[in-house]
Amino acid sequence: MKKILVIGFFLLFGLAVKGFSQTVYASDKGEKYHTADCKLSGDAKDMTLAAAKKAGKSACGICKPDEHMKDKLAQCDGKTADGTRCKRMTGDKSGKCYQHKGK
Ligand SMILES: [Zn+2]
Ligand SMILES: [Zn+2]
Repeated sequence: MKKILVIGFFLLFGLAVKGFSQTVYASDKGEKYHTADCKLSGDAKDMTLAAAKKAGKSACGICKPDEHMKDKLAQCDGKTADGTRCKRMTGDKSGKCYQHKGK
């Protein structure tokens, strides 16, 4: 029982970190934030997505950092009937595939 609680804690913690520590690139004066490989990022320095949004910056229309992150697929956090981890990849923010979502 205790083990399940610990695993649950790390899963939640992992999801929280994933959501708030996405790295984007923006210069101090720039109004946009970029992905690392955008040609417009110039003298940009790295910051978290949360920090960039807090500073009033918006996503660059060329490199589209938001879509870039959305496309990142992660392995589903769900478990299959035999107790092994689901092997489907998902881009859903719940971290679960369509089958495990909402369970
Ligand atoms: Zn850009
Ligand atoms: Zn799944």
